[in-house]
Amino acid sequence: MFAARMNRFGESASIRAAQLARQLAAGGRDIILLTTGEPDFPTAEHVKVATMSALNFEQTKYTGVTGTLELRQAICRKFKRDNQLDFAEDEIIVSAGAKQVIFNALMATVEDGHEVIVPAPCWVSYIDMVRLFGAKPVVINCGQAQNFKLTPDQLERSITDRTRWVMLNSPCNPSGATYSQTELQGLTDVLMRHAHVWVLADDIYEAIVYDGIEFSTPLQIEPRLRERALTVNGVSKTYAMTGWRIGYGAGPRELIGAMSKLQSQSITSPSSVSQAAALAALTGDQEYVTQRTREFQSRRDFIVPALNAIPGLSCHMPQGAFYVYVGCGGILGKKTPTGKKILTDEEFALYLLESVGVALVHGAAFGMSPYVRISFAAHMEVLKDACARIGKACRALRE
Ligand code: PLP
Repeated sequence: MFAARMNRFGESASIRAAQLARQLAAGGRDIILLTTGEPDFPTAEHVKVATMSALNFEQTKYTGVTGTLELRQAICRKFKRDNQLDFAEDEIIVSAGAKQVIFNALMATVEDGHEVIVPAPCWVSYIDMVRLFGAKPVVINCGQAQNFKLTPDQLERSITDRTRWVMLNSPCNPSGATYSQTELQGLTDVLMRHAHVWVLADDIYEAIVYDGIEFSTPLQIEPRLRERALTVNGVSKTYAMTGWRIGYGAGPRELIGAMSKLQSQSITSPSSVSQAAALAALTGDQEYVTQRTREFQSRRDFIVPALNAIPGLSCHMPQGAFYVYVGCGGILGKKTPTGKKILTDEEFALYLLESVGVALVHGAAFGMSPYVRISFAAHMEVLKDACARIGKACRALRE
């Protein structure tokens, strides 16, 4: 009944972990959900007002395949304002989330025999999408010792004649690793020596960077990559608008044209009212975005030392996004109070869920073990409770 391609990839592990936790919560269990990849803040009031107005003016019909001209113009202004990049409206595509932009780009460009370089730990959808389209994900281990970042040397060694893309996600989900200008320069220098390799810059966490770090995107560092770079962003994380499903990509006209062709035969156009909402978010007040990032930073500053104080856990300081990727090597091999030995990060995540009701995602889901990813997109009181529970569960383990 099902196509062979369905066996090439899996369901999103973080979505699955969240579903399991929600099921337990629905059954009456007291569960703290730290699995989600979405800010816990509401959609801004002015965005809601603009959406209501779009409804009242009957902006409820199909739009152009790549999005409304107004929104694409606003996206061009955003690239100019925040990244000093010049794009024309026909170099922009709006899709149902950054995820769909990436999906369209890979579907349009990769097939059997191609390779895509994915630095890990990573957002696992890259790997599954590459597999879905018949290509090979070349997963590069970028461990904690190198701050979870791809080095120029690793990139150089991973490129073959078959390489199509390198995926660069900064700030990174799940590690929060954020590349500096110098680090990006090292990578773009390598790319300049390999004219057949394209770069997909997933900048979805651009606005969420800490300690005064300045965000940069590869094209800003090396404008000569313009004809082989796709820069991806969206409103999900910056404006806490995950459910509106609006993401966008900027790249060469031919690539955007191919992605648009695919979109015309799949979703037709992104949602009209969501586009009106995204327009208001991109063109309206930006101050609240900075305030929210400050709030994320104070949560990070709480959670990192709190987790490091727990025996068996080791937590680095993320520079961006709203996740901590916590090493749990010190837990493996220990026994739970019921006598079960914890052998993997997945078993540790399950133990935390079952014993103290804290839901998080195991590291294998992001291509690097033994770790667990904790989202700190939750209220400070919730985070305090979660850390206390995780501490209790870890202290109950025996050698
Ligand atoms: N890229 C990364 C690294 C993400 O973590 C996510 C969402 O979790 C996305 C892309 C997709 O975002 P969107 O909601 O715009 O589809």
